[in-house]
Amino acid sequence: MHIFAVANQKGGVGKTTTTVNLAAALAQQGQRTLLIDLDPQGNATMGSGVDKRGLVRSVYPVLVGLATLAEARVLSPSGGYDVLPANRDLAGAEVEMVDLANRENRLKDALAQHKDDYDFVLIDCPPSLSMLTLNGLCAAHGVIIPMQCEYYALEGLSDLVNTIKKVHANLNRDLKVIGLLRVMYDPRSTLANQVSAQLEEHFGDKVFKAVVPRNVRLAEAPSHGIPGVLFDKAAKGAQAYQAFATELIERVKTPEFQ
Ligand code: ADP
Ligand code: MG
Repeated sequence: MHIFAVANQKGGVGKTTTTVNLAAALAQQGQRTLLIDLDPQGNATMGSGVDKRGLVRSVYPVLVGLATLAEARVLSPSGGYDVLPANRDLAGAEVEMVDLANRENRLKDALAQHKDDYDFVLIDCPPSLSMLTLNGLCAAHGVIIPMQCEYYALEGLSDLVNTIKKVHANLNRDLKVIGLLRVMYDPRSTLANQVSAQLEEHFGDKVFKAVVPRNVRLAEAPSHGIPGVLFDKAAKGAQAYQAFATELIERVKTPEFQ
């Protein structure tokens, strides 16, 4: 079971879109997949076709020890993967967890009994370096970083990479950067091409080969509760996420992951 956190402390950079579409593409390609929504906004939950307003249980009681993962997970009816859903209740968890023992490992502990249930677990992190994100990073084997190829992207990246290094040193020896995913990419933009080239230069193999273009079909899909890769399979964005899933499946077969 490979557990990957999708993280970037900036909002609106494509974390949720990446988590939902990667989960759906992995499921399409025969991988048993669980998506964990760690953002109180619940966008990954809604985008998976699960109504955040009608949840009986969610990730929140799992984190504070009032429910198990087995009790709280639901099937994405449109995506074919499991979802540990979230809604606004999760905002309270941040405060409540402060007093709990082993507070940064609550999610890791919840996953421990489910090692054989899934091939991939994807964690959609909120846009902050909060206790929730810390739980995501402590539970994960690696981080997938979606980023737009714009001027300030590199600056934000060093903050995130430093945080990952600190978590690696102090809390989770398994953690590493799996890779950087270029999203909302506009190949006609000179700046995007320059930043993309810089990324490849600095990060080498850590930059995924798959590149997700800016594609309106990916942005339309969430309002239908259907992952973009299934909403319009022929769209360029959908095909890019399918290629990304294929790349990741190949990647985890390499010695780095054994
Ligand atoms: P985050 O989770 O990092 O805040 P989102 O995945 O919610 O970011 O994306 C922010 C916005 O950009 C959303 O409205 C989403 O639909 C849109 N978006 C994300 N990726 C793409 C893309 N490749 N093409 C077009 N729109 C996108
Ligand atoms: Mg999000």
